[in-house]
Amino acid sequence: MEIGFLGLGIMGKAMSMNLLKHGFKVTVWNRTLSKCDELVEHGASIAETPSAVINKCRFTIGMLSDPVAALSVVFDKDGVLDAIGNGKGYIDMSTVDAETSSKISEAITSKGGVFLESPVSGSKKPAEDGQLVILAAGDKALYEEIIPAFDVLGKKSFYLGHVGNGAKMKLVVNMIMGSMMNAFSEGLELAGKSELDPSTLLDVLSLGAIANPMFAGKGPAMLQSNYSPAFPLKHQQKDMRLALALGDENSVSMPIAAASNEAFKKARGMGLGDLDFSAVFEAVKSRKH
Ligand code: NAP
Repeated sequence: MEIGFLGLGIMGKAMSMNLLKHGFKVTVWNRTLSKCDELVEHGASIAETPSAVINKCRFTIGMLSDPVAALSVVFDKDGVLDAIGNGKGYIDMSTVDAETSSKISEAITSKGGVFLESPVSGSKKPAEDGQLVILAAGDKALYEEIIPAFDVLGKKSFYLGHVGNGAKMKLVVNMIMGSMMNAFSEGLELAGKSELDPSTLLDVLSLGAIANPMFAGKGPAMLQSNYSPAFPLKHQQKDMRLALALGDENSVSMPIAAASNEAFKKARGMGLGDLDFSAVFEAVKSRKH
């Protein structure tokens, strides 16, 4: 199967590499074209524009940072729309809001193409290991056709119905995750300031009902102030912002998520946006007690 891939950031690079490893032919494009080199060394072809990728491939995946990037790759000159048409499928795996996804879907289907939104749960390591959770919605036939690729990229795919449902599910998941990361950071700070050893707190947490891979994986690095990015904080803040907007639309009051968003915003203001989202711990620590 030949797959096009647009966007070789942390996730896109790991995912396209994984497809190559499993025998897919992959044609890549990235805004900063030099990021394609490593993929080319592993057997990928390169195309100079998104529309050149679409021209070459029946199926193309997008993995872009945010709504602005996802829209730009589709609607700008030499973008996806310039080449999409009958028999071509576009699968956007970026985390965006339902409105952005619907705009993309309408534009693609109006030109005869088919569209699936498929944001993912999981981070850099699950992307490298093919252990993502895929939250697909949109064209069911395209979903069924692309399953061989999803089976390589993820450990489980959900088909959630009409366009927008995948985006919303992803935002709910990341709203919970961002709030958990804030509660965790405050707990680490409270333990330290109470003259407890925060690493003992990690051991205690790991044995109880709120043990989870995120606390276990991020906790030790946070105590070393090591925030090497797996999920950039700027993207987590974008997801909190989009989840809060979904709350607005549905009149759902979310004071915990709103406070967490403020902490992520503060961390961005401190210049931590490109670090891992666990760097919100620095914003928590910087509060005047
Ligand atoms: P990333 O490392 O920041 O990569 C972002 C990608 O988007 C890069 O390829 C970047 O191109 C491209 N891009 C940004 N603005 C663009 C624009 N205006 N036009 C064209 N391309 C543009 O992000 P990531 O961690 O891979 O995340 C990608 C998406 O997956 C995001 O929506 C994120 O929320 C979601 N996600 C991430 C994780 C994670 O753990 N990292 C997990 C689940 C979901 P350049 O290289 O040229 O900058």
